[in-house]
Amino acid sequence: MGRIHLEELTRRFGGTTAVDRVDLEIGDGDFLALLGPSGCGKTTLLRMIAGLLPPSAGRVVVDGEDVTHLPPKRRDLAMVFQSYALYPHLSVASNIGFPLRVRRRPKAEIRQRVAEVAAQLDLSALLRRRPKELSGGQRQRVALGRALVREPKAFLMDEPLSNLDAKLRTATRTELAALHRGLGSTFVYVTHDQVEAMTMATRIALLNGGRLEQVGTPADVYDEPASVFVAGFLGAPPMNLLPALARTVHGRVRVVGEHLDVPLWTGETPEQEVVLGIRPEHLKLAPLTEEPGDRPLLRATVTAVENLGSEEVAICELGGATVAVRGPRPLGLTPGENVALAADPAHVHLFDAPTGRRLV
Ligand code: ATP
Repeated sequence: MGRIHLEELTRRFGGTTAVDRVDLEIGDGDFLALLGPSGCGKTTLLRMIAGLLPPSAGRVVVDGEDVTHLPPKRRDLAMVFQSYALYPHLSVASNIGFPLRVRRRPKAEIRQRVAEVAAQLDLSALLRRRPKELSGGQRQRVALGRALVREPKAFLMDEPLSNLDAKLRTATRTELAALHRGLGSTFVYVTHDQVEAMTMATRIALLNGGRLEQVGTPADVYDEPASVFVAGFLGAPPMNLLPALARTVHGRVRVVGEHLDVPLWTGETPEQEVVLGIRPEHLKLAPLTEEPGDRPLLRATVTAVENLGSEEVAICELGGATVAVRGPRPLGLTPGENVALAADPAHVHLFDAPTGRRLV
């Protein structure tokens, strides 16, 4: 079991509210990524779950038990730190077995558990080494092993891959996701890296200024962002967000001088200020002669083309706004060129301008 329930969890530091009334249900076996920009409260939230920081208000409930006022060691949750916090003078085997020695488990049991965990993490050949004789990725696995050996209810991780180089990070990402699938345990994983969250997590909780913006599967938050913030945070480049005026008549939306038909649009007021959102991959080049009518069309001027290897991104300008278009290389565009961009109507979103919440 490893169900974690956060109720109205809040933490203030003087006048700053770092975490603001967060309600979150983390299911048994979830890989939940706490994602958001620097300073949004991810680490503070994780430390409150671990018991390293008392909340200003709210509750932490683990498997039905209120642990809000219990010290970390009585919560049965394992924290894996960014710095790994390994003991430099101890071997890999002693580092992994450390939590069991503290609990005064019999030597034979410790040896057996360490061997099992080392096999699981592909560390069996390294058990006699000291941490300084290991690579970053291997150290990271030892830190995980030390958490794993205790068979905790859940693993709490704060940016565990941030010390690794790009190549190793990609490999360790795959390993961690596989490890999670193999263990079936609950993982709560802090990251500011959307790729880590999208590739490993079963659910993503997006934080902004201490508040929860959206919780959902990676596909949910990418395809159906609840707010302008979520839409603008995910994706590289992120969703194009254009100021627009929506009119209920025929569901038409006027975007900096252009008319776009947006299906499903049923505004409550005759005219409403909105933000129109469309992802770079959902804009396609259209003939310059095409008339808007059959599909939403934007006319723009190319300002730059970026080569991403298999794809290209064209940065375009329309009426003072910037729009990115992404597609297979080569797009065949040159800076200065005028283009017509057709939006896939199924992928056009509208957000309420004052609140940022999604309408369509
Ligand atoms: P990062 O990705 O940069 O680590 P984060 O999302 O983990 O950021 P937190 O470290 O949780 O963010 O910080 C949230 C807010 O609370 C920030 O404004 C931070 O300055 C503030 N804060 C965190 N810890 C303290 C503290 N001990 N005293 C005062 N303010 C703090």
